[in-house]
Amino acid sequence: MEGNEVLIRIRAAGICGTDLHIDEGRFHCNPPVVLGHEFSGEIIEVGKDVSDFKIGDRVVAEAHKGGCGTCRYCQRGEVEVCTQKRAIGYRIHGCFAPLLTLPASSLHIIPDNVTYEQAALTEPIAIVMKGLGQKCSVEPEDFVVVLGCGPIGLLAAAIAKTLGARSVVITGTDRDEKVRLQVARKLNIDYAVNVQEEDVVQKVKELTDGVGADLVIEASGAAPAIQQAFDLIRINGRVCGLGITGEKAVPFPWDTALLKAAEVNFSASSNWTSWTRALSILSSHRITVDDLITKTLPLSQWKEAFDLLRRLEAVKVLLIP
Ligand SMILES: [Zn+2]
Ligand SMILES: [Zn+2]
Repeated sequence: MEGNEVLIRIRAAGICGTDLHIDEGRFHCNPPVVLGHEFSGEIIEVGKDVSDFKIGDRVVAEAHKGGCGTCRYCQRGEVEVCTQKRAIGYRIHGCFAPLLTLPASSLHIIPDNVTYEQAALTEPIAIVMKGLGQKCSVEPEDFVVVLGCGPIGLLAAAIAKTLGARSVVITGTDRDEKVRLQVARKLNIDYAVNVQEEDVVQKVKELTDGVGADLVIEASGAAPAIQQAFDLIRINGRVCGLGITGEKAVPFPWDTALLKAAEVNFSASSNWTSWTRALSILSSHRITVDDLITKTLPLSQWKEAFDLLRRLEAVKVLLIP
C-alpha cells in the first residue's frame, strides 16, 4: 500500500451490466483482474500521507486509481475520460473481493443516514447525475421519456422527477415485466410502458397534446429504441444518450433528428461533482434506492447473482464479501 492509499474492507458490492459483459467476453479488460467497480466499504488502514480519512470511516470511491496525470483531460481535471485511467474492475483489481486499496483522492464519505447497501449504488447514481446534471439537462416541467428500465434507466427516471420533470414515462419489454417494470411502478414513475404491448410514440403524443417529449433519455442501448427516441421528442427536443449498444454502428434517423432540430448529448462515466450530487440525493432519501436492490447474496454466490441479472429477474444484486 502506498502512502496516499487506504485499505478498505468491502461491505457491499453491486453488479453492473459491464461485469456481465466482461464475464461473457464482450468487453475489453486486462485479465486476470478481480471484477467489480460499484461498492461501499470501511477503511481499516490508512497510508502515512493520508490526513483526510481515518480508520473506521465509511466510504465509497470513484471507480479508479486516478488518470495518467499528464494528458490534456487529466490536466483539465477531467480524469474520468483519461484513456489511461486505472479503472478498477477491468484494468486493475476491483471490488468483488474482501479488501481493496485505493488512493484517498478517489474516496467520498458516506452520509450517516445512508446504509452500506444503499451507498453501493452511488456509482450508477453518479453516472446518471453526470448525464442529467452536467452533459444534458432536465428543465422545469419537462415531459421526459426514459427508454430502458435497467438500473440506469430506473435511476434516470426517478432522478428526472426529483430534478423537476412534470411527467416521466419509462419503457421496457415483455422480459422486463417480471421485475423491472414492476419496480418502475413502485418508484412512482408516472407511466411504465411495455413497448411490446403499447405504442409508446402514440401514448406520448396523447399525453402531450400531440407535441412530443421535451427530453428522451436513451438508457437501453437497443437499436430500435435509439431510432424511436427521435420519433418521441418534440421539435427542438433533446435526447440524452446513456445506454451503450455494444455494436460498431446502429441505424440513426438523421432526417428526423435534423428536421426536428434535435439536441443530442451523450454522457459517459462520472466525476467528483456527480459523486457529491449522488451522495446528496442518497442522503435526502428523495429516491428510494432500496426498491432497486432486488437481492443481497454472499460473494461466494456470485454466479447465481450474475444469472439472476442475465434472466432480468433483478435490478441490482449486491454481493457481500
Ligand atoms: Zn457500472
Ligand atoms: Zn490522463
